[in-house]
Amino acid sequence: MKILKFGGKSLANGEGLQKVIQTIAQKYFNNEPIAVVVSARGNATDELVILLKKAQANINFQADFEQFKKYQLEGLKENIFEEEFSVLQKLLEGVSLLGDYSDKIKDQVIAFGEILSAKYVSYVLNENSIKAQFTDSRQLIKTDINFGNAQPIDAVSKRNVLDYFEKNTDKVNIVTGFIGSTLHNETTTLGRNGSNYTASLLANYLNAEEFQNYTHVDGIFTANPDLVADAKKIERLSFNEANELANFGAQILHAKTIIPLVEKNIPLRILNTFNPENDGTLITSEQTNEGIKSLSVLTNVSLINLEGRGLLGKTGVDARIFRVMAENDISVSIISQGSSERGIGLVVNSDKASKALVGLEKEFENDFYTKDVNKISVNDNIAVISIIGQDLTNFHKPYTALIRNKITPILLNNTVTGRNISLIISQDEFKRALNVIHGEIFGVAKKINIAIFGHGTVGGTLISQILESAKNIEKRKGIKLNVFAIANSKKVLFNKFGISENWKATLEDKGQDYKVEDVIAYAKEHHLENLIAIDNTASSTFIENYISLAENSFDLISSNKVANTVSYDFYKKLRKVLKDNQKEYLYETNVGAGLPLIDTIKLLHLSGENITKIKGVFSGTLSYLFNNFSVENKKFSEVLQEAIDKGFTEPDPREDLNGNDVGRKLLILARELDLQNEFEEIQIQNLIPEPLREGSATDFLKRLSELDGIYQNIKDAQGPNEVLRYIGELSGDLHQDKGKLEVKLISVPANSALGSLKGSDSIFEIYTESYGEQPIVIQGAGAGASVTARGVFGDILRLSEKKL
Ligand code: ASP
Ligand code: MG
Repeated sequence: MKILKFGGKSLANGEGLQKVIQTIAQKYFNNEPIAVVVSARGNATDELVILLKKAQANINFQADFEQFKKYQLEGLKENIFEEEFSVLQKLLEGVSLLGDYSDKIKDQVIAFGEILSAKYVSYVLNENSIKAQFTDSRQLIKTDINFGNAQPIDAVSKRNVLDYFEKNTDKVNIVTGFIGSTLHNETTTLGRNGSNYTASLLANYLNAEEFQNYTHVDGIFTANPDLVADAKKIERLSFNEANELANFGAQILHAKTIIPLVEKNIPLRILNTFNPENDGTLITSEQTNEGIKSLSVLTNVSLINLEGRGLLGKTGVDARIFRVMAENDISVSIISQGSSERGIGLVVNSDKASKALVGLEKEFENDFYTKDVNKISVNDNIAVISIIGQDLTNFHKPYTALIRNKITPILLNNTVTGRNISLIISQDEFKRALNVIHGEIFGVAKKINIAIFGHGTVGGTLISQILESAKNIEKRKGIKLNVFAIANSKKVLFNKFGISENWKATLEDKGQDYKVEDVIAYAKEHHLENLIAIDNTASSTFIENYISLAENSFDLISSNKVANTVSYDFYKKLRKVLKDNQKEYLYETNVGAGLPLIDTIKLLHLSGENITKIKGVFSGTLSYLFNNFSVENKKFSEVLQEAIDKGFTEPDPREDLNGNDVGRKLLILARELDLQNEFEEIQIQNLIPEPLREGSATDFLKRLSELDGIYQNIKDAQGPNEVLRYIGELSGDLHQDKGKLEVKLISVPANSALGSLKGSDSIFEIYTESYGEQPIVIQGAGAGASVTARGVFGDILRLSEKKL
């Protein structure tokens, strides 16, 4: 036999009720042996409680009662409840007259919720040619006299149930949940939500094959789907795990209800009345692979904090606190006490918080006076997130995820034996916190939320690259790249679900004016986690925003070199902010575009390898210029014109020829080695003769031939088999605060590493103590939009992996 239990929402008028009848009918006509336990329909129990309270307060309850009756009769052809309604009417009138009621009377009144429900369902089933019979559980379940929360007397109840079901086999028994009676036949109830308990008792007594609990949700989820969009249904749970969930506010069966099932090893299935296709969550005694199962949240709670430095070492303080709680009937869900300075935090239901505060203030009045207690406060602005199934071995993962997202829990709490940890989080942050923890624990894909500033050649290419590879990366790496903002110097386009292919047109159409603060606010408002801001601008002012971005949970990536080459003061300040906020800043493309140069130098330096010198051709443009000029029989201006025509130079080629860009790259590498040089300290050989440095770009472009003589002379003055290279070189004693930074045109043997450079490639020679005379050489395309964008992409992946 299977026990089916239907909850109040399933039994509400309309769709639910129809589905309930269908479900029962299907099993009935399949000859499946079943018994059905029902709750009160809709909100009947609550409504009856309200009627009682009105009657007690001598407020006219009649209109409410008529409403109640109308609802209960809806869909019936005749009034089958005349008797019940008349008893209820009398009970309410009696309460109204006395101005009071006992728990016993209350049980009598609210019992009607289940009685009406079971009668209703039986009646409708019979109308649908299903032989069903109303079964009053008060005849079966015998309890003690603890009205409102009665405990069944097992031996008697079991005998009654077995007797009854033995004699009543030809009809489907529709049993009232929740209610029982004392040995003197006085009506009792088993505590709110008690119908589940009735059903699990029946399952136990009757040795049922399964307990099917029909609710209005698909089963148990990893988190409340209303709060976490990615929440997933849990297919299987063990009774132990279900128990933990129940204790932490998850809307499933209470421990008391699970015990009869565990005893007889009866599987429990949570099903959805409204979605019969779904096979729900199955709970059995079988231990599933242990691990974190679910996150639950308590929101209507407050944190009471009592601080008393003078109480250190005093005994009996906790007892006094808890006596206050007990006297005021306040249940404490979380307790946390520090051992050094005497401070104790208690979590209680918000509606009891002020009562607790008043009680404590009274209790500790004297201790205030003697200054032993200095503060008792209530914080209503909190929520409790419990990670169920979490023990301390892996707790660092969700915890660091929170910290990385700038959410610091107010209090932590775990149990010694149970596997769960509760975090008290500020109310304003709990949704984001829940999503961060959920993503960390259950996320198939880790979502990385990206804001891209600048969509010129590099930025634009990067966006295309991300859109192209996102699917693949999600599949292979479990990282979901979500670009939620794209901005240029004036406008921003937001989409928390991620921008798509047509972003350019949309940005033009729908882009809005913005400040960087708006991007920060957007991320906050939509609870976006794992934030990265990417600077693909060439702006010298945008870098000011790095500070506030880092302070607001963004990691940073830039292809823009400015932040690393302005004053050493700013460089230091930015690093400090990053460190204080546990944020990263990656800029692999600042030097040598996508080549893994900075990463290599960082690693070498970090591992204690002594870098003694770095030397190389850092500029793709100047690489092309001298590689070709050195070996071809062409005028300097001719080769320069080729470079211009191929788009290798800046619009004004003097920005390449003045050597500043090479200088900046050299400075970035030097600072990687903790050298504190400033840009002004770099000795840069400017390739533009003085007379050509001033004036417009157009003017300069007309006078290129004036360079020919100078460079022809230099070329001719070289030794045999030598070629020209424009290099950056970092040397000196690199243990000092500052190194020697030079940018210069030199001659090198044509067969050396530098001398054999081709095309517009860059080359970097890194000399270190262990590697001796032979440098580590990194060589390849060191410029161009697509390799630079790839390099930025690489930084995104580096950062994302750190977040796993
Ligand atoms: N009708 C009762 C209540 O609302 C019992 C139940 O629904 O399980 O608490
Ligand atoms: Mg690089």
